[in-house]
Amino acid sequence: IPEDTQQEIDELMASFPGLTDQYRLVGKIGEGTFSTVYKAVDLLHDKYENSAWSMIFQDNLLPRASWDGRDALCAAEDGAEYMPRPVSVYSDQPSSSTLHDLNCHSRRYSSEMRIVAVKKIYVTSSPKRIANEIAILRDLGGSSKIVSLITAMRHQDQVVLVMPYFKHDDFRTFYQDSSIYEIRKYCQSLFQALEHTHAQGIMHRDVKPSNFLYNVRRRHGVLVDFGLAEREDDQEALRLSRTRPPLNLDLEGASRRFRSFDSKGRPGVLQRDPRPSLRANRAGTRGFRAPEVLLKLPRQSVAIDIWSAGVILLCFFTKRFPFFRSTDDTEALLEIAVLFGKFNMEKAAAEMGRTFFTNVPTVKEKDISFERLTKAYNPDRWSEIPQEGFDFLRRCLCLDPKKRITAEEALRHPFLTFSNG
Ligand code: ADP
Ligand code: MG
Repeated sequence: IPEDTQQEIDELMASFPGLTDQYRLVGKIGEGTFSTVYKAVDLLHDKYENSAWSMIFQDNLLPRASWDGRDALCAAEDGAEYMPRPVSVYSDQPSSSTLHDLNCHSRRYSSEMRIVAVKKIYVTSSPKRIANEIAILRDLGGSSKIVSLITAMRHQDQVVLVMPYFKHDDFRTFYQDSSIYEIRKYCQSLFQALEHTHAQGIMHRDVKPSNFLYNVRRRHGVLVDFGLAEREDDQEALRLSRTRPPLNLDLEGASRRFRSFDSKGRPGVLQRDPRPSLRANRAGTRGFRAPEVLLKLPRQSVAIDIWSAGVILLCFFTKRFPFFRSTDDTEALLEIAVLFGKFNMEKAAAEMGRTFFTNVPTVKEKDISFERLTKAYNPDRWSEIPQEGFDFLRRCLCLDPKKRITAEEALRHPFLTFSNG
């Protein structure tokens, strides 16, 4: 472990007594905007397993089992891929097959050490936000495609979330050499995670490679980081817009960029739009925000995640990551406009009750096809991409969120329903 990481770990351990009792931090895995994630060994994991055994043999599988033990067992069971599911431990009558199952499992698995990911949320995060992340993770539990929450702990103003550690590969190491088959597998896994999330009416809001941990060898991925996730029917912007007078769109910077020239092209006077600016949730990562987010629609839907997933697919196809690189929303809209053309942008904006206007010369009237775009960026291997791949990409990167493919439909699309042969 690098010295500064060790120091950081020591400080965290020293300031968080409850943590040290259970976990030994062994390294740093990631550092995001809102947290630092450490790799740790679950020191009590074996004890959980022992408690299961003592309940079976000494307490004779009775519901007498202490609530402590029961909670511990559930917690341990939650995240571990290699733990038995001792559901019938709590039934009054043990069946011999349950005992047999447990026996097999524990022989196979008990020697393994459980590795966890400990996510230390920065103290600058609001309690509401942290509570939201925990609540959403709980609601989404039970899918192998979504990271599960083992436990959450708080000491004073410090909160940590403990999740099973998922061994994954950095997107940068594989997006350029992935075969079409591997890209399909990745997308299948990602869209299964999205389907599960969206079925509960939850928008992830920050779909991007570093929040979808993918193991190339196992061809398995898990969606993590629900720190920005939101329920469709519980949108802050919506609640605000219901209590405020109607608001107008103020594209930040647009006034400067587009109105600072008069009709003869002479620089004019800078004027700020006097109308109150629109409130909408713009959470997410630049380059992955859907048009409706950039256009500040107050009512957003799970379709915003499909757009982001489409951007990931575009990175695979063009072998360019990140694909969109602008730093502000106006430029991001322009980048999208360069691909889709003025006509499509105006039409989509109008569908959403917005006006799109630009006089930037790189934005042409018509769109650039994804085939052409991919050929330009990836001249060597673009021809390997099948037609259904481009069709799938078009359906994900559809400007109008209402017409965009859903996760459920995506899983039935030919690009994802290929035979494994
Ligand atoms: P942030 O809100 O800071 O972005 P994330 O939950 O996205 O936090 O975690 C940041 C990084 O930590 C991830 O990109 C990933 O590399 C790593 N990470 C997070 N959870 C796990 C996990 N369960 N297993 C392995 N690595 C993880
Ligand atoms: Mg993240």
